[in-house]
Amino acid sequence: MTRAELDDLFRTSGAVGWGWTPYEALCSYMDEAAREKAESLCPGPRSVLAAAFSYYTGDRPGDLSLYARGRDYHLVLTERLGTVCDILRKKYPMYSFTAGADSSPLPERAAARLAGLGIMGRNGLVILPPWGSWLFLGTVLTDLPLDLPLAAPSPDCMGCGRCAAACPGGALRETSFDPERCLSHLTQKKGELPPEQADRIRTHPLVWGCDVCQRVCPYNAAPRKTELPEFREGLIDDLTPDMVEGLTNRQFKERFGDRAFAWRGPAPLRRNFALQGHAAGTDG
Ligand code: SF4
Ligand code: SF4
Repeated sequence: MTRAELDDLFRTSGAVGWGWTPYEALCSYMDEAAREKAESLCPGPRSVLAAAFSYYTGDRPGDLSLYARGRDYHLVLTERLGTVCDILRKKYPMYSFTAGADSSPLPERAAARLAGLGIMGRNGLVILPPWGSWLFLGTVLTDLPLDLPLAAPSPDCMGCGRCAAACPGGALRETSFDPERCLSHLTQKKGELPPEQADRIRTHPLVWGCDVCQRVCPYNAAPRKTELPEFREGLIDDLTPDMVEGLTNRQFKERFGDRAFAWRGPAPLRRNFALQGHAAGTDG
């Protein structure tokens, strides 16, 4: 398959960029368990295709991270990359193609970097002008050897340091990242939080996620908006305590099961609202 044919295929799938890396090159970024899982999904893997999908719809007010306002990206990317796999399977019936998004054993950011897809931000995110870093990454794992030139790995960002300086949790440092201080991670964590982590959520304006290190990044000054209907339509910008209070887990899943903020169930959201001083019946 030529580069132009794959360009067309990924463009049709809604991706704003794609690249590829030999599986072997990615192996050094994977532990044994991840390699075993990948090789059980696709015995004898040869190539990994990495694709980026934009979700930016503008700087809208709300209390959910921008990525969590539309349809759950796991579902969207699995469907869109599933179609890519179907087309590749028809063309190469002797080979296996497996789509993955986030829950796959493949380290997507490392795959994107090796594939030369965009720029690597110091905040750990892939940046792809003019879309900025408001991107979801997905992969296709295959045993098909690709006969295409290899791209140079993605360069690093300009390193302005604004993301680290603005990070409200102090999670991002010059050369390190501490997930236990990251508000995105903490708002999604289950159970009761240690006092120091609970305090961080108390003063955080979002009930789910954190966009600060993206908002301050110069590459995100004027990003192009997504064209994908799943991330443009039916958005939930604001969640209120009333929307999650009194629902059983099943009712919560029925109502919000197609949303990325729902994967942990209602408990972390209720805890975050309580820490932020919101009670059901007093907001929204
Ligand atoms: S998501 Fe928020 S808390 Fe986490 S690293 Fe970025 S700015 Fe810091
Ligand atoms: S804010 Fe600056 S250092 Fe951080 S990712 Fe963006 S360009 Fe890189």
